[in-house]
Amino acid sequence: MTTAAEKFGENVFHEAVMRERLPKDAYRSLRRSIGENKRLDAETAAVVANSMKDWAIERGATHYTHWFQPMTGITAEKHDSFLTPIGAGAAIMEFSGKELIQGEPDASSFPSGGLRATFEARGYTAWDPTSYAFVKDRVLYIPTAFYSYGGEALDKKTPLLRSMEALNRQTMRVLRLFGDTETRCVHANVGAEQEYFLVDEQVAARRKDLVYTGRTLFGARPPKGQEMSDHYFGSIKSRVKAFMEELDAELWALGIPAKTEHNEAAPAQHELAPVYTTVNLAADQNQLTMELMQKIARRHGMMCLLHEKPFAGINGSGKHNNWSLETDGGENLLDPGDTPAENARFLLFLCAVIQAVDDYQDLLRISVATAGNDHRLGGFEAPPAIISIFLGTELTEILQAIETGAPYGTREKTVLKVGVHVLPRFARDTTDRNRTSPFAFTGNKFEFRMPGAGMSISGANTIINVAVAESLRRFADELEAAEDFEPALHELIRRTIAAHKRIIFNGNGYDAAWVEEAARRGLLNLATTPDAIPYFSSEKNIEMLERHRVYSRVEVESRAEVMAEKYCKVLSIEANTMSEIVRRDVLPAVCSYTRNLSYTAASKKTIGVGVGYEMELCTRLSALMALAMECVGDLEHALNGARRGATALERAVYFRDRVFKAQRRLREVVDEMETLTSSKYWPYPSYGDLLFSVR
Ligand code: ADP
Ligand code: MG
Repeated sequence: MTTAAEKFGENVFHEAVMRERLPKDAYRSLRRSIGENKRLDAETAAVVANSMKDWAIERGATHYTHWFQPMTGITAEKHDSFLTPIGAGAAIMEFSGKELIQGEPDASSFPSGGLRATFEARGYTAWDPTSYAFVKDRVLYIPTAFYSYGGEALDKKTPLLRSMEALNRQTMRVLRLFGDTETRCVHANVGAEQEYFLVDEQVAARRKDLVYTGRTLFGARPPKGQEMSDHYFGSIKSRVKAFMEELDAELWALGIPAKTEHNEAAPAQHELAPVYTTVNLAADQNQLTMELMQKIARRHGMMCLLHEKPFAGINGSGKHNNWSLETDGGENLLDPGDTPAENARFLLFLCAVIQAVDDYQDLLRISVATAGNDHRLGGFEAPPAIISIFLGTELTEILQAIETGAPYGTREKTVLKVGVHVLPRFARDTTDRNRTSPFAFTGNKFEFRMPGAGMSISGANTIINVAVAESLRRFADELEAAEDFEPALHELIRRTIAAHKRIIFNGNGYDAAWVEEAARRGLLNLATTPDAIPYFSSEKNIEMLERHRVYSRVEVESRAEVMAEKYCKVLSIEANTMSEIVRRDVLPAVCSYTRNLSYTAASKKTIGVGVGYEMELCTRLSALMALAMECVGDLEHALNGARRGATALERAVYFRDRVFKAQRRLREVVDEMETLTSSKYWPYPSYGDLLFSVR
């Protein structure tokens, strides 16, 4: 029997496969073009394509696809067969170098935020050789970047790759200042912990809201929620276990190192954590993980919910993005180390992150802003919409001591000199137990907890990478000009702590007092997506993004447009779904039930029996029906009232202030009706039915 370890990566055209199958010069020139980020020459491309095709056909593939990540946040693919007819009833399997390197999908239906005028609807996909090709469902998948005729990025991958280059460039400058002559390149590593819900498919199929929008738009509180904390790390039900086993096997075959699986806090909620890898691979792998979760759940009669907030009043699902920086020699630059030199380098990189997060709070918030995630951020179980950093008390005290020059130490107190003294060891295990911080230092990496469960991690990591690159750029500029490195370093660290300590917060992020405190510190609190969008194109942000060539001004503006449009579309689909459910399902159901009640009352009266219960209930439900009619009318009115000619952002603000409010009012009325109506009549499964549907 082959072991799981032997099967790992069996469907991936990875490094070892390339080395084994490619002729030596082709392999070498491919490695060189990856390393130096240069275009592959036509000859090598043809050889690689041919070898890739043969390998894929051995694994049952008949088609290939350029796999890309448009701004929808999900992946896109169009399958072409290898089959090429060569005259009378004969055909060969063919795949050229050109087909490997570039594709030209009809791109007119992907969001572009006005970047791609319809008369030039072409979009191009270009092979990203830093991410491996793989075979899935008899198709050879070639990871690609997607861009317009004018070269503007139309996807989530291109900016991520650009941000990796920026981060590498600036980190290398800093490492050279520390006398490091060996490191040749640096990359960010990411491990994205993925939360999700599993509910019975047949139960879920009866909820139009789940089917159309991925979240429940109605639903009264169930008698039991997550208050007993009996689900977290609880024993895994056999049906879920079978799903997880199949998921692991498929992920492993694709070289995705799924590692940890456990039950999460809410009933029916689970988590999967992979072993971290280079950020662009981690992004590809996370997209595949989400896709496979949904597919495999269906095979087990379940629906996998990846929405950020599928249920009100119960924890939402996030994606904890663990981020660190690693050299090609395998050193983690966020590891404090044991020597004064390692400590000094660590402190500088720590300060780079602190400054980046403080300076670009707005961009970080924007990188996770969607209509769905707005329900989660600030919902008292997810990090609040305010960005802050958790460092733990010990590390914070060390920074304070450096800033103020006050003596530090538990036994012998000394004045800490960066690069001279060994930092006191701060207990690593105690650093990561704050679950309320949006950006927590966890010993040798940062955990960004704001991304929603369903979103691509590319956007968030693009911003983390480029913002840290910008800090490092400024640090390098200053230190390169300094005459005496060590004192200049100490002074730079001291000054950075003083300037940016406001972003450090070790307390409870869910506490209402934090909102006030954060306002006093001048931190941003961008509660909703329309609040956040305008900050994207501020001069400060465009200047920085353009400087590092991660986004151009037009790209920023088009992305802001795509975000605002998407926000409106999501709310509009939700509003339409609500109106359909209320008019066609809820009101007719309550109508039947009240008719039953009134018939019962009338016939009971004829035999002289008291009808207090029927009368009272019927009266209340009738009043609620009238109210629901009014609210649904108001919602529809709000939906139709969006002003023509308004900008996308103006429309988004309108949707938030008008449509979203009307949604909430309608929901309240319907949820009350649910608690009063016989479950026999109620048209869709309750929260309890859903949350406890998988047994
Ligand atoms: P926990 O958060 O439960 O303490 P871990 O910290 O061990 O668990 O890991 C959580 C996630 O962080 C995993 O996906 C893991 O691969 C990832 N991770 C661990 N170390 C690093 C690192 N240096 N850089 C990026 N991700 C990391
Ligand atoms: Mg974690």
